[in-house]
Amino acid sequence: MTHGGSTQFGRGEEFLVPRERMLKRLERSGVHDPRVLEALRAVPRHRLVPEGLREQAYRNSALPIGEGQTISAPEIVGHMTQALELEGEETVLEIGTGSGYQAAVLSRLAERVISIERVPRLAAQARSGLDAMGVANVVVHLGDGTRGRPADAPYQAILVTAGGPEVPLPLLSQLDVGGRLVGPFGDRQRQQLLRVRRHSAGDYETERLGACRFVDLRGSHGWK
Ligand code: SAH
Repeated sequence: MTHGGSTQFGRGEEFLVPRERMLKRLERSGVHDPRVLEALRAVPRHRLVPEGLREQAYRNSALPIGEGQTISAPEIVGHMTQALELEGEETVLEIGTGSGYQAAVLSRLAERVISIERVPRLAAQARSGLDAMGVANVVVHLGDGTRGRPADAPYQAILVTAGGPEVPLPLLSQLDVGGRLVGPFGDRQRQQLLRVRRHSAGDYETERLGACRFVDLRGSHGWK
C-alpha cells in the first residue's frame, strides 16, 4: 500500500543532490530496505529543521529544533525505521514527535501513525510542518508518551525516539502480539538500541541493535 502520491510533499524537488548523497550514505551504513530508503528519499527533511539550518539538513547529524531537543540524525532514523519491519498495514505509535521528521517517514510506510510529544511548542510546530506537507495519516498528541495511548492500542509497531532507563511497561502492554517495539534504553549518557518482539501475550524477546545516544525520555516511566 502506498500513501500519498509523489506530490504529497510539494516542493519535493529541492536539495536533490544532498538528498541523494544522504541516501548513498544510508545504504553504506546498512539501511537496505527499499521501502525505507524510498521514504527517506521522499521526505523533505529541510522543511522540518529551523530555517537557518536548512543547508545542513541532509548531513548525518542531529540538529537542534528548540526547547533543548534535537531532530535525530538520518542514519539512526534509517536504522530505527528499518528495525520496525513495517509492511504498510500497521498502526504505529511514536514517542517523541520532536520535529515531526520521523513521523513523516513512518507515514510513508504504515497505515496510521500516532505520535506523542510532551513539549507543547514542539507538538504544535510538528503539527503545522506535517500539515504543510500534506501528511494526512499522522496524528500528534500532547502528553507523556511513556504511558502510551490505550485509546488507539494495540500497536503493531512502537518507536521510542528519546532515551529512557528501561522500556516503559505501558508500551509493552499496548504492543500487539507479533508487534515490534524499538527504542534506546540505558543510562543518560549512552543507550542500547533495543528491539522487543511480542511473540504471544506473555512472551517478549529483546535484541540489542547497537549503542546510541539520545536526548532524555522524561515522564512517569522515563527519567523524572
Ligand atoms: N522523533 C523526533 C526526535 C525528537 S528528540 C524527530 O524526528 O525529530 C525526542 C523528543 O522526545 C523530544 O522532542 C522530547 O521533547 C520528546 N519526549 C521526551 N520524553 C517524552 C515523553 N515522555 N513523551 C513524549 N515526548 C517525549
